Amino acid sequence: MAHSNINERRIEVSRALENGSLCGKLRQEIAKKFECSVGAIYYDVLELTRAGGEVSIYPSAAVRAQIHERDRGFCQYCGTSAAVLIAEHVIPMSMFGHARPYNLVSACDSCNRRKGSRVWVPRNFDLLYAENPEWGEKILSLQVRDLR
Ligand SMILES: [Zn+2]
Repeated sequence: MAHSNINERRIEVSRALENGSLCGKLRQEIAKKFECSVGAIYYDVLELTRAGGEVSIYPSAAVRAQIHERDRGFCQYCGTSAAVLIAEHVIPMSMFGHARPYNLVSACDSCNRRKGSRVWVPRNFDLLYAENPEWGEKILSLQVRDLR
């Protein structure tokens, strides 16, 4: 069970890290839920924050503001204008997607939840990858077309 759920576990760890709630008690709860050691959770944190040598895969408040300004308040998956948008990783944190503007788009909560750890091509793809075609190609190679 533990191995097949590593991605789900990492997503949970990622979310807790992102909203600042990853305390010792929560580490223990996640470890229990996914039947792993607390040490494995610490390892997840290391892996998630290392991300290919990047400083962090968690966007700062400044980066989040930049993303929402760029995307003009529209979810870049379904196109709706939502009051609450999150800066969503196009290539998910569980796949070591960076918290760089080219890997973050505004997304509504519904799309964020449905997308999960899959890769969807965002609506502003052409804009995002005009100057970074390598990352664009990576997204196209990883994309999943279900559940849009
Ligand atoms: Zn949406």
